Amino acid sequence: ITQKEDFYVLLLGLDNAGKTTFLEATKTRFVNHYKGMHASKITTTVGLNIGQIEVDGIRLNFWDLGGQQELQSLWDKYYSECHGIIYVIDSNDRDRMEESKVVFDKMIKNDLLTDVPLLVLANKQDLPDVMGVREIKPVFQHAGILIGRRDCLTIPISALNGEGVHEGITWLVDAIK
Ligand code: GDP
Repeated sequence: ITQKEDFYVLLLGLDNAGKTTFLEATKTRFVNHYKGMHASKITTTVGLNIGQIEVDGIRLNFWDLGGQQELQSLWDKYYSECHGIIYVIDSNDRDRMEESKVVFDKMIKNDLLTDVPLLVLANKQDLPDVMGVREIKPVFQHAGILIGRRDCLTIPISALNGEGVHEGITWLVDAIK
């Protein structure tokens, strides 16, 4: 019996951005479409939003810290142990884009995350008249996050119908391994 290597991925973003939906979509896509993955498994605990995927002999553990912003003093513990970050944006919510950027900027400036690969998801692209990646990318992927040697990708996705989920996870796995 070989021991699987554990990697930890933080799933961040405002409430209602689609983090829970993304975890569910990941489960579906991995089982059905990602050939490199075997014995795929994801578990979600309502309230804690923890997910786990086994892929190519490694185990990706997702931590959703959303809704716990009042406990930010605890975030450093997660930051110091994480190997990847997924930041989820509701592309349909122009009213909260600035709020999301503030949370993002605060997170990204943390020294513990300087070299951690970052996947930014412009979610809810299935809805009409949403902000596209061209509009969103300059807001979040600005000069500040180029500090360090961080790998960074911003992509459009729909957690609801699964579009872009496979691409995002594949990129992150490659960046982490
Ligand atoms: P969380 O608070 O970040 O975990 O967000 P949820 O996953 O609970 O999603 C919040 C709401 O947005 C729910 O009503 C979801 O059905 C909806 N939602 C999430 N992802 C998408 C998406 O890609 N497209 C659309 N149209 N709705 C989505």
